[in-house]
Amino acid sequence: MTELRIAIVGFGKIARDQHVGAIAAIPGATLAAVASRNASLPGLPHFATIEELLEKGPAIDAVSLCTPPQVRRAQAVAALAAGKHVMLEKPPGTGVAELDPLIAMAAAAKRTLFATWHSRYAPAVEPAREWLATSRIKSVHISWKEDVRVWHPGQGWIWEPGGLGVFDPGINALSILTRILPRPVFVTAAELAFPANCQAPIAANLTMADIGGLPVTAEFDFRQTGPQSWDIVAETDRGLMTLSGGGRRMAVDDKVLAEAPDQEYRELYRRFVTLATTGMSDVDLAPLRLVADAFLLGRRTLVEPFVD
Ligand code: NAP
Repeated sequence: MTELRIAIVGFGKIARDQHVGAIAAIPGATLAAVASRNASLPGLPHFATIEELLEKGPAIDAVSLCTPPQVRRAQAVAALAAGKHVMLEKPPGTGVAELDPLIAMAAAAKRTLFATWHSRYAPAVEPAREWLATSRIKSVHISWKEDVRVWHPGQGWIWEPGGLGVFDPGINALSILTRILPRPVFVTAAELAFPANCQAPIAANLTMADIGGLPVTAEFDFRQTGPQSWDIVAETDRGLMTLSGGGRRMAVDDKVLAEAPDQEYRELYRRFVTLATTGMSDVDLAPLRLVADAFLLGRRTLVEPFVD
């Protein structure tokens, strides 16, 4: 198999923390260039914009878009029009409908559009899904609380329209939820807390259900100092299943059944390489739809302004 030559677009926190190392670690992929206005990687061809990369850059097969969601759609269009496979960081868009034309464009060009949900590749997510498939689930609760100043320092885009605010991490929980539950869930009510100076919520409570009336609740909070929580707890007829650490550890009644180090981004790139060999796409919009519905249904309150 020939190597998939990938350019990273938007060289910020996640590109540095995860993408570079993951591409280097897996067979079949190589990092060929970087396009970012203010950042580069020594030894690699660098371009300020994706347009410059596509026009003047080295031969590449794919781009990995690690920019904020507000600018990714236009970048994906440019890349697909140039015949490149496209990997999208999460969330796949600022709205749900903007993905349809991208999916159609990728299909027409026989190129891969891969809307990634990195948390689904956390090591205990599949064990949790399999365990829940043979259990009677009585309720599910998500607690996803982190300190925005620690995890998203200086990321002003998060607070702008389309930046999602606390749903930026919250959608990771929803990506796991929509993978591990046997039936689709939908939002029935939401409460959204907006800082007076921001266009996106800093905290949100969601009430959800499935068609059988399964109660599912979620608490998302960006104001958490002290212990952080990325946990999903399911009450079942076989005990209390806890998926913690963002999907890295699964326990039932405190007995650990699955736990492993994080390899999420390596798994993402393995999947991207496999998809690109056939030009098939993988775009699941279920987590983004839940967020969109929370915005549609949410009762809004104003809270104190957020200062980074
Ligand atoms: P980030 O640190 O702000 O990096 C994004 C980079 O994109 C910036 O450094 C900037 O680089 C470029 N950029 C910003 N605004 C732009 C614009 N208007 N036009 C073109 N380029 C622009 O953000 P991040 O944390 O890496 O997050 C990026 C995406 O990855 C988000 O969707 C996020 O949800 C997702 N993600 C983040 C994490 C995490 O832990 N941080 C985890 C998983 C997924 P230049 O200034 O050099 O152009």
